[in-house]
Amino acid sequence: MSGFLLRGGTIINSDGRVEADMLLREGRVVKIGKNLSSQPDDEIIDCKGKWLLPGAIDPHTHMGIPIKNGWSADDFASGSRSALHGGVTTILDFTVQEAGQSLTDSVNHRLELAKPSVVDYGLHCNITRFSPEMLEEIPQLIERGITSFKVFTAYEEAGMRLRYDEIRQVAEVVAKFGGLLMVHAEEGEVIGRAMSSMANLDSPDPRLHGASRPVEAEVQAIHRMAEIADQTECLVYVVHLSSGAGFEASKGHRNVLLETCPQYLLLDESVYGREDGRMYVASPPLRKHEDNDALWLAIASGAVHALGTDHCPFNLADKPLNRPFTDIPNGMGGVETLLPVMLAQFIERKLPVERLVELLSTHPAKIFGMYPRKGVLQQGADGDVLVVDPEVLSEVSLDKLESSIDWSAYTGFKAIFPEQVFQKGQLVLDQYSLQQVVPGEFIKSAGMTFSPVDEG
Ligand SMILES: [Zn+2]
Repeated sequence: MSGFLLRGGTIINSDGRVEADMLLREGRVVKIGKNLSSQPDDEIIDCKGKWLLPGAIDPHTHMGIPIKNGWSADDFASGSRSALHGGVTTILDFTVQEAGQSLTDSVNHRLELAKPSVVDYGLHCNITRFSPEMLEEIPQLIERGITSFKVFTAYEEAGMRLRYDEIRQVAEVVAKFGGLLMVHAEEGEVIGRAMSSMANLDSPDPRLHGASRPVEAEVQAIHRMAEIADQTECLVYVVHLSSGAGFEASKGHRNVLLETCPQYLLLDESVYGREDGRMYVASPPLRKHEDNDALWLAIASGAVHALGTDHCPFNLADKPLNRPFTDIPNGMGGVETLLPVMLAQFIERKLPVERLVELLSTHPAKIFGMYPRKGVLQQGADGDVLVVDPEVLSEVSLDKLESSIDWSAYTGFKAIFPEQVFQKGQLVLDQYSLQQVVPGEFIKSAGMTFSPVDEG
């Protein structure tokens, strides 16, 4: 079977870089070395001066989810195409558990919806309705390759919030069977108090969204969750960390892993005062510029473990003007710009690209049980490879994105898009445009291979 010989690029993994050839065949990386020989029907691609990175893994997407009056703007088909264009070759998405639905049913339903994906995908299981019987489903789901379970400390009004004593019970079972607990860390009571002190809940002003969800909510929830992590020995992964104070609250707890997102590194609350301020409404809200700085420092020091997007985009018309701020659908897109924008940022900030590979590939693969099949370029790994020309800096603009959504928070940001993307050994994107797609595959989590002690 024919393959691809990527000649003379710089292969960048989380632990270093090497100039070498790479041979892709039958979906995998079959060899890395100097002066590899090709077979007659191999396609040879000159990668001199180019970087070869493992395909990015976005550990936090919400494709096609129901909102109050409809659906978010990307489903698995459109969202995964957009992902590929930005070099994301694997996504981890979340189940939606309806009232009265078992975890197993919610997983089965989500696996059906994910079938049109053109990138590989794994699933996190949301636990939004607690029952003692549900605890018995956890080991079965871990057996089926779903090892991460997410709980919410907010969204009482949507019936999604679990009490801390319920979360503790979940943590005990998850820890016992070798899984991971994820948390949306915003303390609902703090939000409730902030809301009840506001006189203008009918106002459409998106600045009030930030005021209604103060940093203190994140701090308190992280304190409580860190306590549960310490007591149960369950690893707790905090999704979308948004603030410097939240980061401080996590310190000293080795069982707490942190994910942040580009929006909390690159955007601040001043955007809520813009004409399109409502489009930036997401939870947690955007914070202050000092929070951006604190999170960049946390990234540089290695204290953040993964980068995700919380991808849940909307078109302009989905967030109409003049609706009360409490009715603005929450969420922003970002899966397509994740790697390109962060790569440009890392270079500009003189942070090592190896560290970005760690945050976007190696760590998510290890934390969510896909390593070493994903997350590294080495013999035997899946042939998910990005070819990047570090000299080709562009600016994000809607007309150049694969996504057809009419708004992006990253318009105007500097970006380095992948020039070529290989998905399981097939060339799916060439010269910055999609050529073909291959069906995505459900990747079972084989269990965490991440040790917070070794990896710091
Ligand atoms: Zn999310």
